[in-house]
Amino acid sequence: MALLIDGKEISKQIKDELKQKAADLKSKGVEVTLAVIQVGDDPASSVYVRNKKKGCEYIGIGSLSYELSGETTQEELLALIGELNRRKDVNGILVQLPLPGHIDEDTVIRAIDPAKDVDGFHPQSVGALCIGQPGFVSCTPAGIIQLLKRSGIEIEGKECVILGRSNIVGKPMSLLMLRENATVTIAHSRTKNLREVTGRADILIAAVGKPKMITRDYVKEGAVVIDVGINRDENNKLCGDVDFEDVEPVCSAITPVPGGVGPMTIAMLLNNCIESAGF
Ligand code: NAP
Repeated sequence: MALLIDGKEISKQIKDELKQKAADLKSKGVEVTLAVIQVGDDPASSVYVRNKKKGCEYIGIGSLSYELSGETTQEELLALIGELNRRKDVNGILVQLPLPGHIDEDTVIRAIDPAKDVDGFHPQSVGALCIGQPGFVSCTPAGIIQLLKRSGIEIEGKECVILGRSNIVGKPMSLLMLRENATVTIAHSRTKNLREVTGRADILIAAVGKPKMITRDYVKEGAVVIDVGINRDENNKLCGDVDFEDVEPVCSAITPVPGGVGPMTIAMLLNNCIESAGF
C-alpha cells in the first residue's frame, strides 16, 4: 500500500514550529503583521482570506484585513499597496487573486515591495529563485518540497516530471526541484506522448486543473505522486488532478485531495511572514 502523505499533519507540524518562532520574536520585541487585501467578494477568495487570517491567529502573528469593494479602481488599490509598503509595522502584503477584470494583476504584483512579497509572485522574487538567490518562494511549490522532505522522500538524482507550467505552480516547482538536484521535465498541453513522459517520473507532480486526469497509465510503478489540483468532479465533490483510487495501488506514496498539498500553502505563507520579519 502506498504511503499517504498527510498534508494536514505536516502543515500542523510547520505551524507549531512557526508558533514557537513567533513567540521568540515577540520576546525580542519583534511583532509580525501580514496585510491581506481582497477586492470584491468572490466566495472562494473569501474562504482563502479567512483561512489566512486564522493561520496568523494560530501562530500568534498580527493580520490586517482590507476588504475592498469590487468597484475599487486600480489607482486606489496601488495607493493602498504604496501605503502598506511604507508602513514599518507591516511585514508582509498579500493581494488575493484573482482580481476583478478592470485591474491589471501584473501591475499590482509589481507594486508590492519585494521585501514584503510573502506570496513570492513579484518578478524579483521569481528571478531570485531562478538564479539561486535569497527571496520569497511561491507557497504551494515550497509546501510540496516540505511534504517530500518531511515524508523522508529523497529528491536528489530523481527523475521529476511536473505536469503544468503556470507561474504560480509549475514553473517555480520546476526551479525548486532543480535546486534539490532532481532531473526535471516540465510537461504541458502541447507535450507529445504525455503518458510516455510522465511514465518516466520517479516523482510526478500534477498541476493541470483537470479532475482525475491522471490515471495509472500515466504513472510508473513505485513512483511518488503529488496532486496539486483542486477541482470538482461530476458529483460536485472536491477532487484532484489524479484519480486517487486508480493510482494509489501502483505508486509508492501519494497526496490525497483534500488534505495533501492544500493545507501546505497557508503553512508556507505563514513561514514567509516569519521570514519577512528577519527571523
Ligand atoms: P493553470 O494556470 O490553469 O495551468 C494549468 C497547466 O496545465 C498549464 O500549464 C496547461 O498547459 C497544463 N495543462 C492543461 N491541460 C493539460 C493537458 N490535458 N495535458 C497536459 N497539460 C495540460 O493552473 P494552476 O494555477 O497551475 O493550477 C493547477 C491546479 O492546481 C488547479 O486545479 C488549481 O486549482 C490547483 N492549485 C492548487 C493550489 C493548492 O494550494 N493546493 C494552489 C494553486 C493551484 P498550457 O500551459 O500548455 O496551457
